Amino acid sequence: MALMITDECINCDVCEPECPNSAISQGAEIYEIDPNKCTECVGHFDEPQCQQVCPVDCIPLDPERPETKEALLVKYHKLVAA
Ligand code: SF4
Ligand code: SF4
Repeated sequence: MALMITDECINCDVCEPECPNSAISQGAEIYEIDPNKCTECVGHFDEPQCQQVCPVDCIPLDPERPETKEALLVKYHKLVAA
């Protein structure tokens, strides 16, 4: 699954530079994750890096976007090739 940022986000900016896929950006009101670029950090790290650094714990998995580990790896390889 891609991860998502909830409206508890306090716009602290710390997650954006940690994303190896540049999937995180400032949205209209809070930070947002591009689900087409988020691999749960699969291919780069063992744990989602944004979750590790978020001080308010507002980056859960997006239940609307179930993806297998294999699908995440395919996404990772496409992103690396792009
Ligand atoms: Fe980026 Fe990893 Fe967070 Fe997805 S889980 S948004 S790839 S840091
Ligand atoms: Fe928002 Fe958490 Fe990212 Fe800070 S680390 S900008 S609170 S999602």
